[in-house]
Amino acid sequence: MQLEENIPLAPLTTLHVGGAAKYLAKIASREDLVAAVNFAHGEELPVFVLGGGSNVLVRDAGFPGLVLQMAMTEPASVFEESEDFVRCRVAAGVDWDAFVLDVCERGLAGVECLAGIPGLMGGCPVQNIGAYGQEVAETIYSVTALDVEAMRFVTLSAAECGFAYRQSIFNTSARGRYIVVEVTFLFETARVVELKYAELKEHFAGKQPTPMEVYYAVRRIRHGKGMLLVAGEADCLSAGSFFKNPVVSSLEFQRLSSGFKEVPHWPAADGKVKLAAAWLVEQAGFEKGFAMGQAGISSRHTLAVINRGGASSGEILALRDAIVGRVRERFGIVLEQEPVMLA
Ligand SMILES: Cc1cc2nc3c(=O)[nH]c(=O)nc-3n(C[C@H](O)[C@H](O)[C@H](O)COP(=O)(O)OP(=O)(O)OC[C@H]3O[C@@H](n4cnc5c(N)ncnc54)[C@H](O)[C@@H]3O)c2cc1C
Repeated sequence: MQLEENIPLAPLTTLHVGGAAKYLAKIASREDLVAAVNFAHGEELPVFVLGGGSNVLVRDAGFPGLVLQMAMTEPASVFEESEDFVRCRVAAGVDWDAFVLDVCERGLAGVECLAGIPGLMGGCPVQNIGAYGQEVAETIYSVTALDVEAMRFVTLSAAECGFAYRQSIFNTSARGRYIVVEVTFLFETARVVELKYAELKEHFAGKQPTPMEVYYAVRRIRHGKGMLLVAGEADCLSAGSFFKNPVVSSLEFQRLSSGFKEVPHWPAADGKVKLAAAWLVEQAGFEKGFAMGQAGISSRHTLAVINRGGASSGEILALRDAIVGRVRERFGIVLEQEPVMLA
């Protein structure tokens, strides 16, 4: 295990803000991981697990502990086929989008709508990534992780991972306990693409697309919204959607809709209603392209808070607070931040 000191974290994240880590260890194997966690325990240091840094916000003061940079790329993607299913094991350090491409090229359906999401495999179960009507929980079979309390590797079934909207045990009840080293997927060979998202349905206009066709369509739509990371493009220094779509009771939804012609919404679990955070943000007066110092809102997507160049973490947080405050004043709804604070 290679340990480095005082390492700037901003370049390791897609928002490019924040200070340095006291220690950083690149984790290329399970042995590296155990050694690094033992080191942190011995020194009584806090630990933060970093994947592709596409869903984190680093504070300007940096991190006074050990950052584990996940770089385990073996097994790259091991596909095992039976008559009706294909099982695939993938290491935590494998690029998520490269995996999606691999799956789609094999003609397997189940992750095609998640094309173009940045980050690494180990991060995908943490917030149960989702987009365009699909969630990764639909195809995850199990997750293998280091349980840092017991210091042993365990395999959790999908049910044990407690997946819900942008949620799992890894970011709620067992936060900080598991470090994901491998994810296993199960694909049904007979499954065909099912489109739930209006823009995709329109795009294919009644045609039954292949996973590969959806893969490219999703990437095109994402690109148009600045939600595909393309080096050098404005709007790309972001952490994707900065706020979760709030889920409210049907009564709360009725109260809210009374003052508006149309409030964008979708059905959620348990008879609740999911609201569009982007719509709330816009109605509260924050348009695409809005700027506050070097922090701003993407010119292509209201939900993406961006670093306009040289922003501090403090500027991003000030804009966040301004948006949250105005949405609360206007609608009585408290928006929840999606990126994880590395602090
Ligand atoms: C342009 C853009 C578009 C995006 N679009 C979407 C989208 O459509 N849908 C969506 O859901 N998300 C989206 N995101 C957010 C992000 O890409 C995902 O959440 C992604 O899965 C994060 O992976 P990562 O490797 O970058 O994790 P990081 O950002 O490095 O970490 C995120 C969290 O996961 C934890 N973590 C990471 N790896 C591990 C591990 N191996 N074990 C345990 N914990 C770990 C970290 O500690 C942290 O809490 C987008 C982000 C950007 C920048």
